[in-house]
Amino acid sequence: MSATPQPIASTHAKLIIIGSGPAGYTAAIYAARAMLEPVLISGFEPGGQLMVTADVENYPGFAAPVQGPWLMEQMKAQAENVGTRMVADHIVEVELNRHPFRLRGDGGTVYTCDTLVIATGAKAKWLGHPSETKFKGYGVSACATCDGFFYRGKPVVVVGGGNTAVEEALYLSHIATKVTIVHRRDSFRAERILQDRLLKRPNIELIFDHAVDEILGTSDPLSVTHVRLKNVKTGTLQDVETHGVFVAIGHEPASGLFKGQLAIKPNGYIKTAPFSTATSVPGVFAAGDVTDDIYRQAVTAAGLGCMAAIEAEHWLAAQSDARAVAE
Ligand code: NAP
Repeated sequence: MSATPQPIASTHAKLIIIGSGPAGYTAAIYAARAMLEPVLISGFEPGGQLMVTADVENYPGFAAPVQGPWLMEQMKAQAENVGTRMVADHIVEVELNRHPFRLRGDGGTVYTCDTLVIATGAKAKWLGHPSETKFKGYGVSACATCDGFFYRGKPVVVVGGGNTAVEEALYLSHIATKVTIVHRRDSFRAERILQDRLLKRPNIELIFDHAVDEILGTSDPLSVTHVRLKNVKTGTLQDVETHGVFVAIGHEPASGLFKGQLAIKPNGYIKTAPFSTATSVPGVFAAGDVTDDIYRQAVTAAGLGCMAAIEAEHWLAAQSDARAVAE
């Protein structure tokens, strides 16, 4: 059973974890069992990306598919049961050039900690067209499990060629009359097993070598009617009728809060030492999709969360040893 998050009495903790996806919860489970009394600050969207994932069938330990939100609820309960303190706040500012590290929450609450685990995850990427912005929430979405229901009995378009795009299309094919996947290349990068499932669905059409040129619709009421596609090889335009456009073109790491304070790779992921979660600031560790630009799986995020907690524990022990020698 999970308790309602409580405001913390003291704002200082040995270890604070920012983020509540598989990396954050796993770090919390390991840190709590190491008696570090961790505080986990969950952010605006507790549970991370798995909260909008329907079937999860590649997280080890479950013979049959499980629901993403259920899996996250289990991880949260496990972290709480071993002693993690959950705080429902969103960190808007960090100061990592002082020790203890200082964090400020959305409502002004200040938190300090001896070690910090950053597990802020990644957010969906958008195409960046003005028409996409115009219709966001009115026919344009980045989450089929959240918004698919609104398109029952209607045709929809999914943009992208990775696992997310294929999974979104499969999910939508049970709700929409027809799903058209638009991909800018002539082949998918999604796993074979997912591509095979796609080919078995009679109401999914594939349009390769095309990019979205513009999303078209009505202004009153605001709703999508068509998507204009451009052939990336010939430049030819074509309009496809649709009521919904699901953008599934990948994710970008939620590392903005740490820019200028931690080393960040050119692609936006937090830089860590090889085979480690140690960032460029001693005592600050990064785990999960905010740092992993290779695997980006729930299970690798959990593994990195475990590493971060163990490394934080070792770092604290080394600090304490150094203090004892100095005294
Ligand atoms: P992804 O693998 O990075 O794929 C993004 C897709 O979007 C690519 O096909 C890319 O095209 C396309 N794209 C990117 N920017 C675009 C743009 N501006 N316009 C048009 N197309 C664009 O992202 P993802 O599918 O979200 O997956 C992210 C990670 O999560 C991956 O490691 C994936 O394996 C994992 N994941 C796993 C599962 C699962 O195991 N069940 C489910 C979901 C995600 P190009 O191919 O041309 O680059």
